Parts: sequence; structure tokens; C-alpha cells
Amino acid sequence: MKPFAYLRAASVTDAVRACAAHPGARFLGGGTNLVDLMKLGVETPGMLVDVSRLPLDHVTDTADGGLRVGATVRNSDLAAHPAVRTRYPALSQALLAGASGQLRNIATTGGNLLQRTRCTYFQDASKPCNKREPGTGCPARDGAHRDLAVIGHSEECVATHPSDMAVALAALDADVVLHGPDGERTVAMTGFHRLPGDNPDADTVVRPGELVTEVLLPPLPAGAVSLYHKARDRASYAFALASVAAVLRVRDGQIEHAALAFGGLAHRPWRARTAERILHGAPATDATFLRAADAELAAARPLRDNAFKVRLARHLAVDALAELAARP
Ligand SMILES: Cc1cc2nc3c(=O)[nH]c(=O)nc-3n(C[C@H](O)[C@H](O)[C@H](O)COP(=O)(O)OP(=O)(O)OC[C@H]3O[C@@H](n4cnc5c(N)ncnc54)[C@H](O)[C@@H]3O)c2cc1C
Ligand code: SF4
Repeated sequence: MKPFAYLRAASVTDAVRACAAHPGARFLGGGTNLVDLMKLGVETPGMLVDVSRLPLDHVTDTADGGLRVGATVRNSDLAAHPAVRTRYPALSQALLAGASGQLRNIATTGGNLLQRTRCTYFQDASKPCNKREPGTGCPARDGAHRDLAVIGHSEECVATHPSDMAVALAALDADVVLHGPDGERTVAMTGFHRLPGDNPDADTVVRPGELVTEVLLPPLPAGAVSLYHKARDRASYAFALASVAAVLRVRDGQIEHAALAFGGLAHRPWRARTAERILHGAPATDATFLRAADAELAAARPLRDNAFKVRLARHLAVDALAELAARP
């Protein structure tokens, strides 16, 4: 591993200032992704600014009935928090479907959102990869891409975003609060991660030196229910082949509110706006759910070895919506 300097930040201002003063510096959360990538020679920061002990370890109610989650809240603590379990079960389920108990005990909310793709070429510094080294090519497109994107990909990159939590946050209409050298701003979760286009080296819209400080969850519409379903090769300790986060409110058999996001399919959590337009106002039946899923997934362009993910996503979405609709 390349030698690096280490600084434990005492405040948000401290952290942002230290990062701005050292080009190539990186924030350190739980380190469960960043340190692995440093050992592989994929990340080579000259300085780590440790933000894991900043006083951002809070989960508090907001005045409008939503929830404010600090960036250093550990994944395990967030999943177990009573307000999350009762009001946002999709988020709790997504967190518990990710990684392992040990990893969740150390991984932070901020770091989870900023984790990098698990594309094997990206993680192997001896291979070309447009995301790691722009202009070198994308061997995954014709190579090992069974786990990779089926929708929204580009000639330059077919990677997927690995976070389960981010998929739930996208369906729950969360916002992310950022502090940087130019002050504070808020970005909608649905616009936080990017599609690869012709510059896949940028995973997100986060600007250099910006620190994630909080995630804001709005209240769900009264009577809405939510869940997260994930399909993977093993029952635990495996990333999503496909996943779905769904929010639904049904009254008298009609859908009054629906929000749907897919994971494991794209370079970002895939908010299914086309499906949602079909669901709104329609009868809550399997036929509606199928029509909505098919309309959304019509935009999929699977690669040689991953068309099965489209079928998987379709089944996950229909099952999730049917399960939510059947709840009393
Ligand atoms: C074997 C294994 C299996 C896994 N399985 C899953 C899975 O199924 N689903 C899933 O979702 N995840 C999975 N993970 C990934 C795990 O969830 C992430 O590694 C973890 O959430 C990252 O959080 P962290 O705090 O450790 O981030 P770090 O490793 O500390 O940081 C990750 C990135 O975020 C940046 N960063 C950290 N904090 C901030 C901040 N506050 N503001 C701005 N930037 C910041 C860092 O600079 C770095 O670039 C798995 C990981 C492993 C090792
Ligand atoms: S899919 Fe993206 S991350 Fe993977 S090799 Fe291609 S450019 Fe690199």
C-alpha cells in the first residue's frame, strides 16, 4: 500500500478544510470499501481525513414528520432504529440485506452511498478500465459482465452501483446534505448517483472535497407501506443481481401512491418513473403490476450474459407490489 497521511477531523469545517488543502485526500468512514481499494492499489490517496467520529451519529425526527440521519450512523444502528423499522421498513430491510453483520457494524451512512462498483475489472489495477483510468477501455462489455448493468449503461461503462441502502433511499424520496468548500447544498437521492455516459469515472454528482453530512427522509404518505426485496447468488454476504424497493398506498382497490426503485440493474439506483405513471390510479392487480414492470423494463438493453436480470427484476417488482397490496 502507498504511504499516506492520516488526520482525524474534529468538526465538519475541519474535515472539509483538510480535504481542500490536500489534493488527492479522501474522507474515511468505516473504511470497509476505501481501505480494501487501497490494498488493491485502486485508490491511492495521499491523505485520509477520518470523519467516522464526527458528531453526526444521530437519527432524529424532523418537524414535518420525517427523519434526519447523520452521515456517521453505522448501518447496523440505522437498520435497528425503531423509527426506521416502523416508519421506513424498506430502508431497514435494504440495510440488513447488505454485506455482513461485522461490516454493517462499522460501515457508515455516508460511506455506503459513496462505495464504488464491484466490477472485477475496476478492482484489478492490472486491467484497463474507463472508470479507474479514463480512456483505457471497458473490458467488461465483452468480458465478464453477468452481474453488471442491463439499463442506462454506455459504450464506456456497464458497471452497476452496489449499495442496497441507496435503492431504498431513492424510492423513499430521500435527500442528501453535502458540505463543501463552497458551503452547504442538498441533492435529491434520485439525482445523487450518475449514469456513466462518456465519463464513467464520476459515480456521483458530489464535487471534490464535499462531505456527506446527513440524509433527510420525508414522511411517507399516510397509509403507505414499503418493503425491499433482493435477489442474489447467496443468501447473505452477496451483492444484488437485482433488487427492488417499493412504496404503495391502496384504497378501495385503487393505487393512490406508488414509488419503485430497482437496484443491481444500473450505474445508479433506477427509479422506475414509467412504471409509477402506470400504477398511479390503476387497480391494484397483478395485471397492473406486470404492465408497469414491463413498461419500465422495456428500456433494458441486456448484455450477452445478463438478460436473466431483466426477468428477475420483473418478478421482484410484481411480487413486491402484490405483497404490499395484500396488506390490510
Ligand atoms: C464482502 C463485502 C460484501 C458487501 N456486500 C454488500 C451488499 O450486499 N450491499 C451493500 O450495499 N454493500 C455491501 N458491501 C459494501 C459495504 O456496504 C460498504 O463497504 C460500506 O457501506 C461502505 O461504508 P464505509 O463507511 O466503510 O465507507 P468507506 O470505505 O470509509 O468509504 C467509501 C467511500 O466513501 C467516501 N466517504 C466516506 N464517508 C464519506 C462522507 N461522509 N462524505 C463523503 N464521502 C465519504 C470515502 O472517501 C470512500 O470513497 C459489502 C462489502 C464487502 C467488503
Ligand atoms: S464496466 Fe465500468 S468499471 Fe467495469 S471495466 Fe467497464 S469501465 Fe471499468
